[in-house]
Amino acid sequence: MAKDPVARLRVAPGTKVDLGRHATDATLGWEKEWALEELERAKERLDVLQARLYAEEQRSVLLVLQAMDAAGKDGTIRSILSGLNPAGVHVASFKVPGGRETQHDYLWRVHEQAPAKGHIGVFNRSHYEDVLVVRVKGFAPKAVWSKRYEHIREFEQLLADEGTRIVKCFLHVGKDEQRERLQERVDDPEKRWKFRMGDLDDRALWPKFQRAYEDALERTSTKYAPWYVVPADRNWVRNLAVAKILLGVLEDMDPQLPPPEDGIEGLVVR
Ligand code: ADP
Repeated sequence: MAKDPVARLRVAPGTKVDLGRHATDATLGWEKEWALEELERAKERLDVLQARLYAEEQRSVLLVLQAMDAAGKDGTIRSILSGLNPAGVHVASFKVPGGRETQHDYLWRVHEQAPAKGHIGVFNRSHYEDVLVVRVKGFAPKAVWSKRYEHIREFEQLLADEGTRIVKCFLHVGKDEQRERLQERVDDPEKRWKFRMGDLDDRALWPKFQRAYEDALERTSTKYAPWYVVPADRNWVRNLAVAKILLGVLEDMDPQLPPPEDGIEGLVVR
């Protein structure tokens, strides 16, 4: 039997990552029509497992999404989590730090947003910005950011030890595809609000960002918090891949409903 295409996206701990060798337009052997139906099936199953995780209230899941602009972090979140009970999902978006955030270490604001027991947390950008944009744009010297990979591994180990299952997806979009999507944002009045002039600065730094991503993936893909490189040029591939990765984690956790109180079984409510 062919190896699970999603498992092949996983960055094995300690291996080198060359993003140039990961196709951004891969279909993973899927057909679009099937993939859209399969996504619906995956979402139904996610709904069941999320309800159990919530009821169990012992453990949590953290999905970290990182990507270049316009790779579709927001679209992925909308597509995968739309059917779930919002009470059990917490999405945290990390922007340029401001106010009190700047007066603390970089993990301070992140830890606060980590999912509570029973919840699925999603990080739309994350602590990885502190070894990505911070490194590429020189917001901190190398002596500072280079120590962070170790902090991050330790931080994620702490979360994992305390009951959080972590999975991290790099949505890998191609440079040409990004150009088209950014142009669409400029041209479409409904999407224009998403476009920032700074997106062009980041685009000009593409090779440096790719290098920074390669380092981050290499140094922080661990058994307890693996990275996946998800091809993101086709939304339907990206969405199904992330849904399957998240579903795989929940299936593996196998959350259990708490046992009923004594005397409930067979009780007739009058
Ligand atoms: P998004 O692109 O995620 O939809 P925005 O357009 O508001 O949202 O962009 C958020 C910006 O915040 C990004 O350019 C990102 O690089 C930046 N950012 C996030 N975290 C940090 C950080 N720790 N230091 C500097 N910049 C950051």
